[in-house]
Amino acid sequence: MGKGDETGWRAATKLVRGGLTRSEHGETAEALYLTSGYVYDDAATAEARFKGADGYIYSRYGNPTVAIFERRLALLEGAEACFATASGMAAVNAALMCQLRAGDRVVAARVMFGSCNYILTEILPRFGIATTLVDGRDLEAWKTALAGGARCVFLESPANPTTELVDIRAVCELAHGAGACVIVDNVFATAIWQKPIQLGADVVVYSATKHIDGQGRCLGGAVLGTAAFVKDQLVPYCRHTGPALSPFNAWVLLKGLETLDLRLARHRENTEKVASFLAVHPKVERVLYPGLQCHPQHALARTQMSGYGSIVAFDLPGGKPRAFAFVDKLRLIDISNNLGDTKSLITHPATTTHQRLKPEERAELGIGEGLVRLSVGLEDADDLIEDLGQALG
Ligand SMILES: *Cc1c(COP(=O)(O)O)cnc(C)c1O
Repeated sequence: MGKGDETGWRAATKLVRGGLTRSEHGETAEALYLTSGYVYDDAATAEARFKGADGYIYSRYGNPTVAIFERRLALLEGAEACFATASGMAAVNAALMCQLRAGDRVVAARVMFGSCNYILTEILPRFGIATTLVDGRDLEAWKTALAGGARCVFLESPANPTTELVDIRAVCELAHGAGACVIVDNVFATAIWQKPIQLGADVVVYSATKHIDGQGRCLGGAVLGTAAFVKDQLVPYCRHTGPALSPFNAWVLLKGLETLDLRLARHRENTEKVASFLAVHPKVERVLYPGLQCHPQHALARTQMSGYGSIVAFDLPGGKPRAFAFVDKLRLIDISNNLGDTKSLITHPATTTHQRLKPEERAELGIGEGLVRLSVGLEDADDLIEDLGQALG
């Protein structure tokens, strides 16, 4: 076990030391247990483990390296428990499927990552689960949608790709009044800049692929919530359906966590500079970054976030041809749909992450043909600004 009271540590300490368990060798770095199974001293011990005694059984159920990652992330989040998954989508799917059944209803904010939309609008209805999508900014719309009751509420804030926000505290109150469990996809905000549980959320999900690894190396995800939710609902579902995180990826992600707050400080500095540059550029129509005063929900951002993310979305007049020409002209910033990476990455959501939606659906969500989504990395901000400037020019 870690020394001292882990829960009392400040974030930077939790990120470096949280959840650390050392083997009998006393290694400095976290041990990587690349093992699928575990052996037992005798048959009675095996029987006891399967009945719930402490100890590992099989790495689909749990693994010591994965457990350090889960503990560290839970400490950072201020959550009682965590189950790590192979990807962010495995986390979103498990958080929903572990508690939903035929006849249930999910209410969700309509702007979200394309694959989250697929689960809610394509997969769940196949099992008799209805999804109602609402304008996440509109509390009256939430109220109306929740009037008939719901099992779950799902929301991203800031949402992918437009950085639209949801008033998490207000929606949690409405949702709890309707008896719903609130699941927040906190990928854009990160556990450093937004604490959904403190705002009232029940469950928080991450794509650890994004800022937690943050170096473009591996996929991962996590679901966090109360000990009762994780033990009674999430873990039974995950143990038997197999979205387990690989111990190797857990080890990589642990190393990512150790530098998370350092990297985010630089992401933030760079993103503020880049967003401010774009906000006054004559060839840019509209810039969406919750940290900018011109963001329509900047006031809300200030009440529920302590940092505003590393993603900036902006519109170029002239639609898809202009957006493609601009993206193709970039020399430093890469075209990629990943985000939260050390490398700055840009994507055109209408033709990539959100291409599955109908054009009129995209228009309703504010995902125009001229919208690009920039994930600001850790390069020198002046190099990024020069690259954006020459490509816009
Ligand atoms: C990327 C992303 C996911 C999915 O994560 P993967 O690790 O790619 O499966 C879910 N939600 C949001 C908001 C994302 O940006």
